[in-house]
Amino acid sequence: MTITEISRKGPGAAAPAEKTALETAAVTRLLVSQGILDYSGHVSARIPGRDAFIIQIGSTSRAEISPDSMLVVDYDRKVIGDDGQPPSELPIHLEILKARPDVQAVLHSHMELAIAFTMMEGMKLLPMRARATRWKSGIPTDPDPSHIKLPEQGRALAKTLGPHHAVLMRAHGLTLVAESAQALFVDAVHFKENAMAQMQALQAGAKPLPLTEAEIEQIKKMEMRDWHIKKLWNYYIRKGAKEEVLPPEWKGALVPTKAMLKRDRVLN
Ligand SMILES: [Zn+2]
Repeated sequence: MTITEISRKGPGAAAPAEKTALETAAVTRLLVSQGILDYSGHVSARIPGRDAFIIQIGSTSRAEISPDSMLVVDYDRKVIGDDGQPPSELPIHLEILKARPDVQAVLHSHMELAIAFTMMEGMKLLPMRARATRWKSGIPTDPDPSHIKLPEQGRALAKTLGPHHAVLMRAHGLTLVAESAQALFVDAVHFKENAMAQMQALQAGAKPLPLTEAEIEQIKKMEMRDWHIKKLWNYYIRKGAKEEVLPPEWKGALVPTKAMLKRDRVLN
């Protein structure tokens, strides 16, 4: 099925591998547009119902990724049905996906703001903004400053990540994990906003005031994560298509329908 055909039928029309490849490609391009990915970094996502995941060909420009630049890789590191090479830091994705059955998508980025927090003595990146409650359990830092190319390095990173949703990598970058590629994109946007907020407080010479336990509890009560993800996904896909970050023919296959955007929880 071509993207035009999927587009005409709307979101959810494609087979799982095609849908995952398209979403992963869109997430990659949108992350480039948000300054979260550039010439390096990558996104992976599990293919529902298969013992394999999608990741880009390592050499393809992140700004021009399409479903055709995506590879299917199994959990033994074997590329299925294609002769492209995955990114050299594949062990980040492979070992985290193996260690964390709850995780459906992984982002590795060399985000400068995140790296800065691995280079300041006695300074931890903390939940500052309301949307940063996602990282309330903590954001550990992995001590290995080199690129993660060996399985044992990937396993060590997965161990540092533990049960959390983000791990910083000393002088190198960060890795985020989420329950879907869409959620991963939204988390990445908020992760950057939060790191920026803390950096701005520090640059102003002030002592950062992170969210307290009580504030985090209060925010949690009001949270509608699933709906929030759909709302931001809708915004960024439309914006991306309008600004030609995404090919126009992808829009129909990616934009949520009206029914999908209906809130299932109403607080009043
Ligand atoms: Zn890296």
